[in-house]
Amino acid sequence: MENKKIWLSSPHMGGGEMKYIQQAFDENWIAPLGPNVNGFEHDLESFLDEEVYVAVLSSGTAAIHLSLVLLDVKPGDFVICQSLTFSASANPIVYMGATPIFVDSEKDTWNLCPKAVEEAILYGIAQGKKPKAIIAVSLYGMPYQVDEINALSKRYDIPVIEDSAEALGSTYKNRKCGTFGDLCVLSFNGNKIITTSGGGALILKDPAFKKKAVFLSTQAKDDAPHYEHTNIGYNYRMSNICAGVGRGQMEVLADRVAQRRANHERYKLLFANQPHFSLHQEPSSDYFSNHWLSIVTVSENSRISADEIRKMAQKQNIETRPIWKPMHLQPIFNDTLYFGGHYAEQCFKTGLCLPSGSNLTDQDFEKIEQLFSKIFTLS
Ligand SMILES: *Cc1c(COP(=O)(O)O)cnc(C)c1O
Repeated sequence: MENKKIWLSSPHMGGGEMKYIQQAFDENWIAPLGPNVNGFEHDLESFLDEEVYVAVLSSGTAAIHLSLVLLDVKPGDFVICQSLTFSASANPIVYMGATPIFVDSEKDTWNLCPKAVEEAILYGIAQGKKPKAIIAVSLYGMPYQVDEINALSKRYDIPVIEDSAEALGSTYKNRKCGTFGDLCVLSFNGNKIITTSGGGALILKDPAFKKKAVFLSTQAKDDAPHYEHTNIGYNYRMSNICAGVGRGQMEVLADRVAQRRANHERYKLLFANQPHFSLHQEPSSDYFSNHWLSIVTVSENSRISADEIRKMAQKQNIETRPIWKPMHLQPIFNDTLYFGGHYAEQCFKTGLCLPSGSNLTDQDFEKIEQLFSKIFTLS
């Protein structure tokens, strides 16, 4: 008990999940369809509070892949993607045989730098290949610069895929993440703000597009008594059991956001007046982050580095993690096109993700605060 591990972000059940799962068992809906699938989609549509159509899928990665399929991305096409992100934002570009162009982050939200996005677009146009899509991420729950990115999308007529895998419950100018892109993506992986154990959602603006997404995600079976196929299909639909977990989790989403934001407030106090430490924060009141993860950056003048802090925390059984390593620095994307400066690299070098789960206890926080009071003396 004494040395219980403090996780970065662990699943946090609400208690309502079992009734939906029990119902699925009672009615024998143990399949990638059923009342929980429809119910979970409906819950998400009501939550997002705009005219959107949700298709729940087996993962967020599947949702990004299907977005690219729906946008008819072809081998060799350019797709712009934020470099500072989890690899799942970018891998589906490669599944399509398309070519990623990675772009740096701006300093306020750590998401797509509009200036670098425009350079990437102009590069593509100069090559005779206007990029087919822009993948914009709301990293760690912080919305990207929606107005600026949408303006570029309009000016050059390039659709935006909003990767809000980490940002369910965040808002920008009082509108919810998951409604800004032409297509939007959520994830319900085990460590996200709510979980279905594994799962994702694709959010569409048009019911016909949703119909197509569901069709493609259930093996693209044409309307015929036998198995007839005029499209390549995928097995990407969410199961009725997972959707049951999702329905229970939706009942507590507002609490989960409040708890993660309270964690962030507690970190704000901890790092106040610490010259070498700075908490990644909302740049203005336009932004409301779910603070899925709280991130601290450690100044390069500090005598102790983010990596040394991570190792010290590990010894105390406290999990912290380096922030996402930018895609353009990954060995697998060695020769990939990149636009922008070195801000994403800087974030990677100095940033550290702090324990941020909605189930952290007061005792957990006291342990974290004790650790940092020692770290401050070494900084
Ligand atoms: C988690 C995550 C994904 C992928 O979602 P899965 O459901 O794990 O496939 C995509 N993009 C980002 C930014 C993520 O954090």
